[in-house]
Amino acid sequence: MQAKTKEEKKIFEWSKKLKPITKAQKDWGFKNIFKHYVYRTNAKCQCFNCGHEWNNEHPKDTMSLIGCTCPVCGQELQVRTYMKQTDRYGNKSEVIDRSWSYIEEDYMSVMSVYKDYQVIRHYHYYTSCKRGKAREWSCNEIVQDWISPKGKHTIVAHLLTSGPFGNYERWSYRDGLQIRKNSDKYSIDKLWYPRKKMIPEVDRLGIFDDGLGLSMVNKICIMLNDIRMEILYKNKQLDLLYHLVYQKEKLNSLWSSIKICIRNNYIIKDAFIWCDHMELLKSFGKDLRNEKYVCPIDLDVEHQHYNKKMEIINRRKETQRMLNEIEQYESIYEKHICKFNNLKIENKDFIIVPICSVYDFYLEGEILHHCVFNNEYFKDNHSLILSARINDTNRLETIQVNLRDFTISQSHGLCNVNSDYHDVILETIRKQLPVIRKMSRQKLSKELTT
Ligand SMILES: [Zn+2]
Repeated sequence: MQAKTKEEKKIFEWSKKLKPITKAQKDWGFKNIFKHYVYRTNAKCQCFNCGHEWNNEHPKDTMSLIGCTCPVCGQELQVRTYMKQTDRYGNKSEVIDRSWSYIEEDYMSVMSVYKDYQVIRHYHYYTSCKRGKAREWSCNEIVQDWISPKGKHTIVAHLLTSGPFGNYERWSYRDGLQIRKNSDKYSIDKLWYPRKKMIPEVDRLGIFDDGLGLSMVNKICIMLNDIRMEILYKNKQLDLLYHLVYQKEKLNSLWSSIKICIRNNYIIKDAFIWCDHMELLKSFGKDLRNEKYVCPIDLDVEHQHYNKKMEIINRRKETQRMLNEIEQYESIYEKHICKFNNLKIENKDFIIVPICSVYDFYLEGEILHHCVFNNEYFKDNHSLILSARINDTNRLETIQVNLRDFTISQSHGLCNVNSDYHDVILETIRKQLPVIRKMSRQKLSKELTT
């Protein structure tokens, strides 16, 4: 990507002026990134580092997983092992890896300064080891993070390409270091060179080993961009900081409550619940500047308490909404069903009656756990909805009769499953369809039609 903005052009030029990595830094990385291995058999030992081969003086010890020191290069060596499959008791066992060659790659990062910018330089290490040969390794600078004193972040990097199925990633050095789009794929935070140079703004942050799960570059930019994040960090409100990184609005709306927590040394351990709790308290009109609400001793208990309260309120609202709806449609439905009010189909085990009010639709739906009420069948003028029941509370199935062609459209029991009586119910209704047809055609008295 070409440098476009003034800032990018400046950084791209500065980037060319950076000094290359020193030999001491390079060697430190090599020594600390990679493990150094020995190839061992009963007779021989071979150093993967320098390729030297010598007689194994402790053949009986071969299978044990301890290392040794190479008599030529003086490198402490480990026996390369890998995890053998877990046995059926769940025990994992290590065995000696007898492969003749292997490759390894990893990263080292160096904190440095250029003018008033924090520059974080990342190096890619690659090594290939072959039995009997001195190991080969390389170290290339692949990414530079440039951070301004105000937290503006610019990336200069080689291109990271990925395989067609995202199955591998490879650094491409063809176009050299270029300005790159800010992307997570250039975020590297592995091994740090111990001597760090920092601009005063970064030094001031006092970044420590916090286990936050944010990369170093991310942390620096987040805090330099918003002083409130720095305040959270320095006051060890780490869970809250992590939770609010991408939620500026929440940070704005809760900041005064957060300040009260900080003042009271109240560390928010579960920011997700705490923020949710504050929203809940807000809907109850509680004072979010009062430490009694903002710093609860047992957040979980408090939160559950208010959640239950809210559930009750919501349930009441829902019931009221339903009752309103029922009332609204009751008189309309009455006009539709009055023709069938006298319909009663009896059987030795049950009776079948029309659902005679919208409220009865509600009860039918509640008792049989299906959607006859929610789907508003009471608004359908071309259907007659019947209920097969033993009594008012013991209901078997709900039946829809099509009033256009006088057929049975559907019949369902508890949770839309057919009851044991399903076939008998259908048979019984089928016999009565002429009666239903007759009833549907009767003229209504004047008072009911108006
Ligand atoms: Zn050696």
